[in-house]
Amino acid sequence: MSISLFELFKIGIGPSSSHTVGPMIAARRFGKWLEASGLIAATDRVRVDLYGSLALTGGGHATDTAIMLGLCGEDPATVDPEAIPAIRDRVIETKMVRIGGQHPAHFAPADDLVWHQRERLPFHSNAMTFTALDATGGVLGKRLYYSIGGGFVLDEDEAASNSGSGDAQGAIPFDFGSGAELLAMGESAGLTFAEMMLANECVHQPRERVLEGIDAIAEAMFASIDRGCRIEGILPGGLRVKRRAPALALDLASRHGSNLGDPLVVLDWVNLWAMAVNEENAAIGRVVTAPTNGAAGIIPAVLRFHDRCYRGTAETRRTFLLTATAIGALYKKNASISGAEVGCQGEVGVACSMAAGGLTAALGGSNAQIENAAEIGMEHNLGLTCDPVSGLVQIPCIERNAMGAVKAIDASRLAMIGDGSHMVSLDKVIETMRQTGLDMRDKYKETSLGGLAVNVVAC
Ligand code: SF4
Repeated sequence: MSISLFELFKIGIGPSSSHTVGPMIAARRFGKWLEASGLIAATDRVRVDLYGSLALTGGGHATDTAIMLGLCGEDPATVDPEAIPAIRDRVIETKMVRIGGQHPAHFAPADDLVWHQRERLPFHSNAMTFTALDATGGVLGKRLYYSIGGGFVLDEDEAASNSGSGDAQGAIPFDFGSGAELLAMGESAGLTFAEMMLANECVHQPRERVLEGIDAIAEAMFASIDRGCRIEGILPGGLRVKRRAPALALDLASRHGSNLGDPLVVLDWVNLWAMAVNEENAAIGRVVTAPTNGAAGIIPAVLRFHDRCYRGTAETRRTFLLTATAIGALYKKNASISGAEVGCQGEVGVACSMAAGGLTAALGGSNAQIENAAEIGMEHNLGLTCDPVSGLVQIPCIERNAMGAVKAIDASRLAMIGDGSHMVSLDKVIETMRQTGLDMRDKYKETSLGGLAVNVVAC
């Protein structure tokens, strides 16, 4: 299994990796496909059909905006978040997109973007088709894409062969498929999870570039915390949710030096860092998918907790993120990181598990303790449903990241007081999560048809 750190941790935009980043990537890929197929010059109009969870909650997740951006050739990693409203408004006003930033084609979102809320395609709930039409309305070409979670996108051919953007190319030295294999490889090579993952990454690019890339990911995570701590206001979408991080940041700063009597003040900081990222995510700001956008606050918050409380260094940050990648790859391979497939256990649960393992590694834990921490991080998130109010990644998502970060720290502490031996293996808990997701009713899987989404009346 070859899933790269740079696939699990992608610099992008909010609010959703599966409903915003994925559709944007798919739309961009469709433009490139038209170009490569020689169809772009004859394309007069584009029509997009959204199915399943994408159609049900895409409105609250800015899927329409993402499609417009992607058709115009914008990339989630490089688009300027400040420029997004102007690009979207121009498409709505002119009813035109510039495919790949160049070729003009009609695209009136009100007519050409069709939401099939009652239809779900068999391979995955997040499906979308893109159709290119000529000036007479004839079909020039059509592609089907699936957004399978965490910003990973498969086209119809990749879905049929079960390969694609989730698998980095090239033979890797540590090709593990399960937690048990990962532990056994570490034992026989005398290496940590992080050292094995680094060796795998170095197959794709030189070591220096890998390390620079990891440092850039950590920096982008911290930048999203810092921006989220600064920017005040009301989050978009109509729920009128107030951004809480700036006030909490000011309060904590003003308490500096007077916190000695409060043994739990560190929890306030962890809550702040996690919520700051997820408020930034909800505001369509720049965040790192980790491993999804809905759960993007947990790993940055726990990484900063280690940095601030244990004098973290570039070296420990790399160890943390490489270890978290090994754990996330196991979920991606053997279960799912998509809320639309397995509920929030696949987003917040997986991020919690990854953060618990990463923190344990940064603290010098053994491979067995890391595996134990990752297992605890998921075990107590099993069954967690996805029920965002009004389809917005705000309630319960923002606070849920704060809870996930705190739980990850506790999972690491529980693992560190033991020697790594435990009853439930990481593989067992991953399989349990997968089965629980299969049994979970669709209304709890990013459809906003159940749970808090129906019991909380949006005003
Ligand atoms: S409830 Fe969880 S899975 Fe659902 S949108 Fe929020 S963070 Fe994502």
